[in-house]
Amino acid sequence: MRDTDTRPSGAPAEAPMVGDHLAMDLLNTQARSDGQVVDYWHTGDDVLRWLERHHVAPPAKRPRVAAQDLLTQGKQLRTVVHDLIAARKAGHDVDVERLNAYLQGYQTSPHLERDDAGNVTLARRAHGDAIASLLGPVAEATAQLLIDGDFSLVKQCEHPDCILWFYDRTKAHKRRWCSMAQCGNRYKAAQFRKRSSSSSRPAKADK
Ligand SMILES: [Zn+2]
Repeated sequence: MRDTDTRPSGAPAEAPMVGDHLAMDLLNTQARSDGQVVDYWHTGDDVLRWLERHHVAPPAKRPRVAAQDLLTQGKQLRTVVHDLIAARKAGHDVDVERLNAYLQGYQTSPHLERDDAGNVTLARRAHGDAIASLLGPVAEATAQLLIDGDFSLVKQCEHPDCILWFYDRTKAHKRRWCSMAQCGNRYKAAQFRKRSSSSSRPAKADK
């Protein structure tokens, strides 16, 4: 148990993976529940676990990093990415310099490796600062999104009590919800309740 845990009871312990893009899921480490912002990142370990779940840090070799620094820098990157994506989505100019700081710290070189089947593959090995190496792929995914992403497909869940983002990769590009099971259904249930209560009112007045 953690003292700093501010998750509401019933909220999942891990950030949702509904963004269909690393940058979207970075933003989704903050969610909203009952009007309150829920932050899934409380410790450096939370950030490491999130990176591992997104296959950014190899689980076998957890790097030694100062947990508090990783948390602070991870949150700073999240703010930068949020500002960039929100500005771009709103059609404003984006300040790329703040992201460049993270990209410059991400130093890698090509590296030949063998995969599980014994085939030779070309990977990239990071050899800079440990935290910059961990957060670098996230910064790079964001940079790639700014370069060739289709921002009409960068969306925020339409439920009024939800702030989750996603990249709409559906064929018809009509995705509206972070998750149909979560927000789609609760929105439709609320609409149904609204409709049935308004249609039942005149009937009551007739009596
Ligand atoms: Zn939602």
